[in-house]
Amino acid sequence: MSEKTIALVTGANKGIGYEIAAGLGALGHTVGVGARNEQRREEAVAKLRAAGVDAFGVPLDVTDDASVAAAATLIDERAGRLDVLINNAGIAGAWPDAPSTVTADNMRAVVETNVIGVVRVINAMLPLLRRSQHPRIVNQSSHLSSLTLQTSPDVDFGPGSGAYSPSKTFLNAVSIQYAKELRDTAIKINTACPGYVATDLNGFRGTSTAAEGAVAAIRLATLPDDGPTGGLFDDSGTVPW
Ligand code: NDP
Repeated sequence: MSEKTIALVTGANKGIGYEIAAGLGALGHTVGVGARNEQRREEAVAKLRAAGVDAFGVPLDVTDDASVAAAATLIDERAGRLDVLINNAGIAGAWPDAPSTVTADNMRAVVETNVIGVVRVINAMLPLLRRSQHPRIVNQSSHLSSLTLQTSPDVDFGPGSGAYSPSKTFLNAVSIQYAKELRDTAIKINTACPGYVATDLNGFRGTSTAAEGAVAAIRLATLPDDGPTGGLFDDSGTVPW
């Protein structure tokens, strides 16, 4: 078994996921670059290696049971365990997605990736995480998930979102339930808000860089054993549910 910490980042070929992989790699983690497209995955692995990161490619489509199972097998064969799982892969779906315009197909696609994909990956990786001494799971959520912020008269998130925002609220709820189930284990599971980050997801309209967006997830991935579990955090602290 490898002595180095083994991490898997889903959707790591670009955007925030790539920067999480780079950041964890700079801290000395071996990083599995989870990505569904072979060319984009291998380009990201090559770029990370050129930057000195111990990176390897993990073919992974989070919406596909067989792909996720194969990814778990690959990591098992390579490392025998998993220390850090970052569920970063996500889609915005059709945008804008005001509730009155949302189609059932769009809603299904967004939930399939942003929620069910995370559950699929966690459940496939849990046996490997249970073999780690300091296992950490981070689910990439959003400030748009927060019911408190959404209903605050002081916060303006623009027109309502019928699929994307609710998918992240759903993800938060799922994360809380995992934290309850796993509370007597070494596994810490937390949920991150990266901020409004300039990436493909929003046509690069975000105001933070992808590296800045990676900070919250990296911090949660490297929590000490007495750190929190079952919480929602951004790079400056707790975010209200
Ligand atoms: P990007 O669009 O740049 O990256 C999304 C990543 O997810 C890509 O690597 C993409 O792969 C991957 N992905 C999508 N679907 C799948 C799938 N089925 N299987 C595997 N990988 C998949 O967006 P961001 O970097 O901005 O987003 C990363 C996360 O951060 C998302 O969960 C997003 O919701 C969240 N977030 C982003 C914010 C922002 O302002 N950007 C704000 C709040 C949260 P591919 O290249 O193949 O499409």
